[in-house]
Amino acid sequence: MGDRPRWSRIVLKLSGEAFAGDIGYGIDGGTLRMLANEIVEVRQSHQVDVAVVVGGGNIWRGQIGAGEGMDRAQADQMGMLATVINALGLQDVLEQLGQPTRVQSAVHMAQIAEPYIRRRAIRHLEKGRVVILAGGLGSPFFTTDTPAALRAAEIEAQAVLKGTHSGVDGVYTADPKVDPTATKLDQVSYMDVLNRGLNVMDPTSITFCMDNSLPIVVFDVTQTGNLRRVLDGDHAIGTLVK
Ligand code: UDP
Repeated sequence: MGDRPRWSRIVLKLSGEAFAGDIGYGIDGGTLRMLANEIVEVRQSHQVDVAVVVGGGNIWRGQIGAGEGMDRAQADQMGMLATVINALGLQDVLEQLGQPTRVQSAVHMAQIAEPYIRRRAIRHLEKGRVVILAGGLGSPFFTTDTPAALRAAEIEAQAVLKGTHSGVDGVYTADPKVDPTATKLDQVSYMDVLNRGLNVMDPTSITFCMDNSLPIVVFDVTQTGNLRRVLDGDHAIGTLVK
């Protein structure tokens, strides 16, 4: 472990469920503050540029509506709006901690957030602001894993950090909740993730990261200090996909 962080610019993917804490739905204030503290630490103490892609699954997922007969594209648009709610919540707690932020949304809503503009996002990061990316790709039929990968490539981040929750601390050979013989992998290749159907991120985002040589670290973001440890190069934390 050196003194300098492993990467100087990252995309942190936070799923909406990570915001819900034990409640399982909506936003839990204590959980949000914990996550914000983690981000502020790596931004301010480690000088790491952080763009956060937020999900919306704590409020709504398109698949839920589609499963009940809704038009999928419409249901996905509801999901995209859910990510904006989470983004504004995260912005509020980060700014209460004194951390300048900007929310950029792929779905245009001028009164609430800046539009996503790549060059502007990079400029914010260079000025030490945390950029929160909402609205996914702005297109239905995706989850927020794909914009996490795409935006990382666009803003020249060196890695995607996929924060998990609910005790999931990395990638396992099988689902540890179902299969007691499942073991955690320290490192795994993109191809293995795809071929073995390992639960990491959506296959679309894995393929994108593979094509663009973007490493992914899957780790439990709800454990205090884990985000910093990943950036310190502590290989005991999470699973590296490369
Ligand atoms: N979504 C979408 N396009 C995108 C990103 C998200 O349509 O580019 C919708 C989709 O319905 C998804 C919902 O937004 O289910 C919430 O995002 P996600 O499922 O990724 O949230 P997470 O699981 O990370 O909380």
